[in-house]
Amino acid sequence: MNVNQSAPPVPPFGQNQPIYPGYHQSSYGGQPGPAVAATPYGAYNGPVPGYQQIPPQGVPRAPPSSGVPPASTMQAPCGQTAYGQFGQGDIQNGPSSTAQMQRLQGSQQFGSPLAPVVSQPAVLQPYGPPPTSTQVTAQLAGMQISGAVSQAPPSSGLGYGPPTSLASASGSFPNSGPYGSYPQSQAPPLSQAQGHPGVQPPLRSAPPLASSFTSPASGGPRMPSMTGPLPPGQGFGSLPVSQPNHVSSTPAHALPPGTQMTGPPGPPPPMHSPQQPGYQLQQNGSFGPARGPQPNYESPYPGTPTFGSQPGPPQPLPPKRLDPDAIPSPIQVIEDDRNNRGSEPFVTGVRGQVPPLVTTNFLVKDQGNASPRYIRCTSYNIPCTADMAKQAQVPLAAVIKPLARLPPEEASPYVVDHGESGPLRCNRCKAYMCPLMTFIEGGRRFQCSFCSCINDVPPQYFQHLDHTGKRVDAYDRPELSLGSYEFLATVDYCKNNKFPSPPAFIFMIDVSYNAIRTGLVRLLCEELKSLLDYLPREGGAEESAIRVGFVTYNKVLHFYNVKSSLAQPQMMVVSDVADMFVPLLDGFLVNVKESRAVITSLLDKIPEMFADTRETETVFAPVIQAGMEALKAAECAGKLFLFHTSLPIAEAPGKLKNRDDRKLLNTDKEKTLFQPQTGAYQTLAKECVAQGCCVDLFLFPNQYVDVATLSVVPQLTGGSVYKYACFQVENDQERFLSDLRRDVQKVVGFDAVMRVRTSTGIRAVDFFGAFYMSNTTDVELAGLDEDKTVTVEFKHDDRLNEESGALLQCALLYTSCAGQRRLRIHNLALNCCTQLADLYRNCETDTLINYMAKFAYRGVVNSPVKTVRDTLITQCAQILACYRKNCASPSSAGQLILPECMKLLPVYLNCVLKSDVLQPGAEVTTDDRAYVRQLVSSMDVAETNVFFYPRLLPLTKSPIDSTSEPPAVRASEERLSSGDIYLLENGLNLFVWVGASVQQGVVQSLFNVSSFSQITSGLSVLPVLDNPLSKKVRGLIDSLRAQRMRYMKLIVVKQEDKLEMLFKHFLVEDKSLSGGASYVDFLCHMHKEIRQLLS
Ligand SMILES: [Zn+2]
Repeated sequence: MNVNQSAPPVPPFGQNQPIYPGYHQSSYGGQPGPAVAATPYGAYNGPVPGYQQIPPQGVPRAPPSSGVPPASTMQAPCGQTAYGQFGQGDIQNGPSSTAQMQRLQGSQQFGSPLAPVVSQPAVLQPYGPPPTSTQVTAQLAGMQISGAVSQAPPSSGLGYGPPTSLASASGSFPNSGPYGSYPQSQAPPLSQAQGHPGVQPPLRSAPPLASSFTSPASGGPRMPSMTGPLPPGQGFGSLPVSQPNHVSSTPAHALPPGTQMTGPPGPPPPMHSPQQPGYQLQQNGSFGPARGPQPNYESPYPGTPTFGSQPGPPQPLPPKRLDPDAIPSPIQVIEDDRNNRGSEPFVTGVRGQVPPLVTTNFLVKDQGNASPRYIRCTSYNIPCTADMAKQAQVPLAAVIKPLARLPPEEASPYVVDHGESGPLRCNRCKAYMCPLMTFIEGGRRFQCSFCSCINDVPPQYFQHLDHTGKRVDAYDRPELSLGSYEFLATVDYCKNNKFPSPPAFIFMIDVSYNAIRTGLVRLLCEELKSLLDYLPREGGAEESAIRVGFVTYNKVLHFYNVKSSLAQPQMMVVSDVADMFVPLLDGFLVNVKESRAVITSLLDKIPEMFADTRETETVFAPVIQAGMEALKAAECAGKLFLFHTSLPIAEAPGKLKNRDDRKLLNTDKEKTLFQPQTGAYQTLAKECVAQGCCVDLFLFPNQYVDVATLSVVPQLTGGSVYKYACFQVENDQERFLSDLRRDVQKVVGFDAVMRVRTSTGIRAVDFFGAFYMSNTTDVELAGLDEDKTVTVEFKHDDRLNEESGALLQCALLYTSCAGQRRLRIHNLALNCCTQLADLYRNCETDTLINYMAKFAYRGVVNSPVKTVRDTLITQCAQILACYRKNCASPSSAGQLILPECMKLLPVYLNCVLKSDVLQPGAEVTTDDRAYVRQLVSSMDVAETNVFFYPRLLPLTKSPIDSTSEPPAVRASEERLSSGDIYLLENGLNLFVWVGASVQQGVVQSLFNVSSFSQITSGLSVLPVLDNPLSKKVRGLIDSLRAQRMRYMKLIVVKQEDKLEMLFKHFLVEDKSLSGGASYVDFLCHMHKEIRQLLS
């Protein structure tokens, strides 16, 4: 197959391409020969008005910035950030107000030992003058959360490692990290910190603390604001902190002094009414009764987090509690970002801009940098030196989703064809032509922005420069004007120097007793008959180029010949599973349309043929081997869809035994549960990758199947794993079929290699996701679909330069579903800074959490989970302590001061820490943990965000006729009112919680029964009723499901019902049954950690 014979490649996904209306594919699509000189894009000649801002070369930068970054202290009426004062339109990165948190006289009025957050004078006024530092210190001393809440954690978890439980559970890891060690001795933080690195497992990125604070490399200015362009006074204490999360629409110097002081009144926080004045000083951890509607909030869970409460430290005073309303609210941050940034498109022309949050709906206009849908970074302003980076401990990482699906309003990447010469690249570093390259010498040469090498421009690519030094055709060429685009690859980019064949899908169906008995086989075969009409297609192609094949198996494998010329399908049995071979070539992989009749006949017959099977044993590795061999024989890449039910105990390669052992939990051996029990699957995976054979695994287990081992091949081949425990057709078919349909239809690339190039000074050093690596730079993906992300971590290897910034170029070489070899290029330019404050001002917490979760989840294979948790906590404390030390203005040590962009870091990190992988409850199985672990490894930022902090929506509070989604509430039991109904979702689970005193009419409208007691607990479908409330709720559920990668099965939970425990597991701001800390407690603990680091 020759690339020039293939269909015109663009628009690749058949979407309209509004930005470049004039780009006609035909004009450059499949043109042979010396490509594209003059105006390959037809009508698209003149610069589009919107493009004019792009400076000729290089990338425009955001205004320089150094000044105190915005910060959050905690203060009572939290959430009143004056975000509203910045328009979302003009997005720049300049410093804006910085404000310091002003500390409230919290304790008397709110009973909060911390009085943090955002300072907004308007809000503060009612509460009196800021406390003196003495007061604060006194409060802090009283903040020992340990005293009041200490009690032994439940046996199911170590909690946060109070020495008692540690001693009993784990004599083997004495270095218990901050939680474990601090209570025993009030050792100076540094020496304590120095103890950690030793324990730190292969978790690489936590250098010794000692270096963090001893010598701030760049002079460690305590008050960066002093040197910055801020108007006098802006950096100081009583200024508001508020600024839109990471944007400052206006450079600071443009702001009249005092602008931020008042700030326009922001939208009132939806959840917290300013009722604080009436607060009583709460003692002993029971802040509930005074405020919440829930009469029984106190101590909802038996398990109490214990951060190391020990007899050791003196027990000061009656411990006080932090008011939950006074701490940063995820809901508020999300709402504010939506309000501030949701209405204007995010234009990517400016270097180093922080995009809107993933929870905000916004459109993207590509003007030279990749859309945040493709790449999100932990920070958009990178420290210039390794020392600074080490000091801050902020991980430098990018979450890349190379084939991300775009909304219909946004253009898919254009495909550029440079003909036989192929894409233009730098001779030295091999970076691809992109808007970051600089043309010189009248256009005859270009300088590579990644390695500075000067390259000749080939004659056929020559173009004159305009008076600004920009090529006059810059806007006619995607590769000179856009952040993301594709190149057609030449034969040099193909395996064996041969253009690839179209890929194949092979459906491999377990037909053992369990699969037949549950009705799975019948359901699946019936579905495939219609689903095969929806295989992925290229652009406007009429039919899919993908060929299909079928295998069934139990202890032996059955191959089917479905050649179109046959009257009936033919079965061939291979029982020698130890030496797998493919018994037929011709007729195994076929075109669906041509072989329709034979395929239908086969799918009708399979359930009948095995209806009476008594075979309960299965093989697994030989099935994958067979699929891979079949692709190899057909000389194509492809995907295996495996439908499997049981632990493969039949005699065969890859045979497994049940090695599940809950006694290993919280021991040094716990990590073995995450490790594959045999190396056979890694070896197999390697072969699969070499063949471009991606494996998607659908599991239907009734008991332990060893997900950790079975998921090795999917994980290393870029595949997906789905798990339907105790599958029953009547309960689970909707979920399974929905997942299957989506999985089969989604855009996928094959036989892919991803390479991330960076400009001099930093380089990609670590990668997280579902892929295989045989060297340190190339991410090999047998398959890569539109949902998969790869998280890449960067480290310095030299000094960066503020002027040139830091550049990333992600190049993905892949075979499209039509068999076309292509390169997808994503470019992103970041700023670099010499002031830590600039780093902290341009961070994205959601992306940080994505990285930290993946980092931790990978770590549990090699280290005890407790060590992994401690490492996360230490790193978080270091990040925040560094900010406090170097960026925040001087204030009492008793204040917790958080950077504005990271004010949710503690709450989100706590959710990661107490997630099922790192702190499982008694009901969480080993397979569940392995499943979630591999799932998270490929999640994008939006998915990890909602997965770790679920969305909780009140259904009965907003007017029935309102069409917008109801405003979310914080994930805590005390936010639930027994008179209302709530919906909770986290991307995998979906609950409807019904309060015990919901009005009878509401119950009737939604459930079609006359009273609360008649509602069936555990219901998974809401009755279809013709009334506004029913329609609205069902509509909302549908729309939430549509947003997520996987179908979320509904569970209706009644207040005070048994199932409620399941639901409460997701109320992540509360203490968890397994010993996970509440948000409030964790924040107090984090504060303590920070203070120790600073003292
Ligand atoms: Zn180069």
